[in-house]
Amino acid sequence: MTLAAPDTLARSGASSGAASPRTSVFGSPAIDCDLHIAVPSIKALMPYLDAYWRQQFVTRGIDRLSWNLTSDPPGAPISGRPDWRPATGKPGTSLPLLREKALDGFGVELAIANCIYGGAALHSEDMASVVCSAMNDWIAKEWLDAEPRLRASIVVPMNNPELAAQEIERCASDNRFAQVSMLVAQGEPLGKRRHWPIYAAAEKHGLPVCLHAGSLYHHPMTTNGYGSYFLEDYVAQAFAFESAVLSLVSEGVFAKYPALKIVFAESGVTWLPAALWRFNKTWRGVRAEIPWVKRPPMDIVRDNIRLTLQPFDEPDGAGRLERFCEQMKSDRMVLFSSDFPHWHYEGTDALPISPKSGLARRILYDNPRETFPRLGLRELAR
Ligand code: ZN
Repeated sequence: MTLAAPDTLARSGASSGAASPRTSVFGSPAIDCDLHIAVPSIKALMPYLDAYWRQQFVTRGIDRLSWNLTSDPPGAPISGRPDWRPATGKPGTSLPLLREKALDGFGVELAIANCIYGGAALHSEDMASVVCSAMNDWIAKEWLDAEPRLRASIVVPMNNPELAAQEIERCASDNRFAQVSMLVAQGEPLGKRRHWPIYAAAEKHGLPVCLHAGSLYHHPMTTNGYGSYFLEDYVAQAFAFESAVLSLVSEGVFAKYPALKIVFAESGVTWLPAALWRFNKTWRGVRAEIPWVKRPPMDIVRDNIRLTLQPFDEPDGAGRLERFCEQMKSDRMVLFSSDFPHWHYEGTDALPISPKSGLARRILYDNPRETFPRLGLRELAR
């Protein structure tokens, strides 16, 4: 595949065909960088399996399993806002509801859909790979073909980076796939070289890698073992993102793949400067052991890591988002997200700053455009 030259969204054939991007409810154009679609059940994927695997799934009773990820339980209140839940089935399974509440509801130009499903976390590397391929074909056919404002993430088998890279290669010719998605809590730190084939393939095709909140559950969410409650599990996801920053920079991922963008989704935002202060300070003292890290970690993170907005962690007091940008010395890092259908706020109150500010425009539109080069592609042909 040859990437076409970046162009304006209006000429990309992306959605309305209008002369300029549509205006969102915030008064300026917006791109939603994290909303969710869900596999209703494994039966939805059966038509996308080949004859061998279809027979295997039926014979072994796999077609009757739920494969819901423990870290994304569909029945939990946080997994689906009451007014964003379909009448039946899981949150995120209704395209009409997604259109009404997310695409039309916020008035976004485009939205990048993440599909989180247990099939990508299977211990069987072959089966995980087959399920991911089926998911990507299902996403393209059932969602992207049906709704031109949607883009999606390539789902990959996280237990086998070589097979994951092959899946990226297979899907990369479809420009509607805007990034690669993985869960942040894996079996080992994300900077380890085992994962590098994924980063190499992603960088080659201009695809950021989204690390979304969630766990393969091969290890507990905390370093002290398993907690008892979903509450503990969900809050502890933030620690996994901190570990990811530390590992990605220290292991030299960005030295090897300098053009790679990593997008943290549902990570929260305001924890990052404090974590980097400690990282920066310690690096100055011991940097001889990682000579490939030639710049302060904060500078590398500023260039290579982005964060979706919701759920925004804003304790009492306004101005946290502006202060984050001051501390990071950048207004380029935060990307607008509704996180539909997850429940973090009411109505369309997803933006924690005045929509009239210049920072709002950056977060809503300019930062997404700069982070995802494929959103500006002129040609969408497969
Ligand atoms: Zn999300």
